[in-house]
Amino acid sequence: MDSIRNPSERIVHRGFLADVDAMFLRAAELVPMQTGLSEKIRICNETYITRFGVRLRGRMYTFEGWRAVHTNHPAPAKGGIRYAPSVDQEEVEALAALMSYKCALMELPFAGSKGALKIDVTDWSDAELERITRRFTQELARQNFISPALNVPAPDVGTSERTMVWMANEYLRMNPQDINASACVTGKPVAAGGIDGRIEATGRGVYYAIREFFNTERELSRTKLPKTVEECRVIVQGLGNVGYHAAKFLAADGCKIVAVIERDGVVRREKGLDIESLKRHFDSEGKVEGFPDGSYSEDGSAALEETCDILIPAALESVINHDNAERIDAKLIVEAANGPVTYEADRILNERGIVIIPDLYANAGGVTVSYFEWVKNIGHIPFGLMQRRQREHEQACLVEGLEDALGRKFTPEQKASFATGGTELDLVRSGLEEKMRSAFANMSELRAERADIGDLRTAAYVLAITRIKGMYEAIGI
Ligand code: GLU
Repeated sequence: MDSIRNPSERIVHRGFLADVDAMFLRAAELVPMQTGLSEKIRICNETYITRFGVRLRGRMYTFEGWRAVHTNHPAPAKGGIRYAPSVDQEEVEALAALMSYKCALMELPFAGSKGALKIDVTDWSDAELERITRRFTQELARQNFISPALNVPAPDVGTSERTMVWMANEYLRMNPQDINASACVTGKPVAAGGIDGRIEATGRGVYYAIREFFNTERELSRTKLPKTVEECRVIVQGLGNVGYHAAKFLAADGCKIVAVIERDGVVRREKGLDIESLKRHFDSEGKVEGFPDGSYSEDGSAALEETCDILIPAALESVINHDNAERIDAKLIVEAANGPVTYEADRILNERGIVIIPDLYANAGGVTVSYFEWVKNIGHIPFGLMQRRQREHEQACLVEGLEDALGRKFTPEQKASFATGGTELDLVRSGLEEKMRSAFANMSELRAERADIGDLRTAAYVLAITRIKGMYEAIGI
């Protein structure tokens, strides 16, 4: 999209891809690099466009889809596939770029990719969506845009574990000899090679991100946030998978979710909404209107500007932009969605001292647990078992060391009592928490070292760019 300029020639709306590029360029200036490398890192390597036909309801329908690969290093490229009526190539490329930076920030061995299908899922039955998804998968697989070694999709807006299992199954039918076929997508149901805790992962990551901020940086912020997360009043935009889980975990800790904004409007309750029953209502009615334990009004976008401690945009990109940034009245914004704050809004909010926990970090829980799932699939060993063996080994070494130090042997009963249990879900949650903690520590450390890196977004980008640059330099291209 071309930039639209206001009379003072300030760029007010660039479009999503241009915004991501501008955020990249602002940070890339802070990373010394040989000429031309910054451009190579920034620009999307390739985008596959497919227009395929599916015979449905007695006639042929044509669908348009994309899969963008932002970079090929390291392989595979990773990122979700969204089903939405208003997607386009630019949006997919912007999202693919964000995936590259996100994976680099989280130190996951993936490059960035993203896909989309232009479709309104509410127009089609489940059986029809399955046929459309299988045809889309055939197109992607033919060109290596889905493959355990090269490109691994996952759920995103409008897709779910059901979409993923259709894709995995279609890929397997086309590649029965591929022993790693189940790793061709992540976010599968647990019964079909998925991992426990993947569905909640992005929302849980948002929750860990907020806790990490409160534990380490709250006092540094200029806005007067309450001392603890538990005292916060929170507004959430979006009650999809990410917004729901983030709200649920925060509410379980005692936060008051005072408003939830959805497509049809906003529902408020000053004492805090009951997220579980709101979600049940939303899933059955398709809207927040009519929820009995809250007050409803139609104007959801105005609710984004209401006073709160934490605002969590967990829906789509560019919802906080030049038009409303001056009126946002939150102390902390946590980007659970990809790209919810435009470049210009980011500048305004920074000037106003409103802290933003950026998307690259805040919503990285999903792809982090996708990584665990992919490792589980290519390892061909149940994840819990693999971890348990490792732990048993480490524990045996520890027991031996203790025995040496104490000069006596433990009884078998004592040894058994040292053994810790741990389901796959426990392992996934603790692995995710550890990843979120170390990425936050890296951002904080960088900001403490470098006076020229003020905000968390710039720190996240500088870390990501530095790692991708290191990879290109190591490969020698
Ligand atoms: N769609 C999610 C994201 O935007 C997850 C991607 C993945 O797991 O590959 O981060």
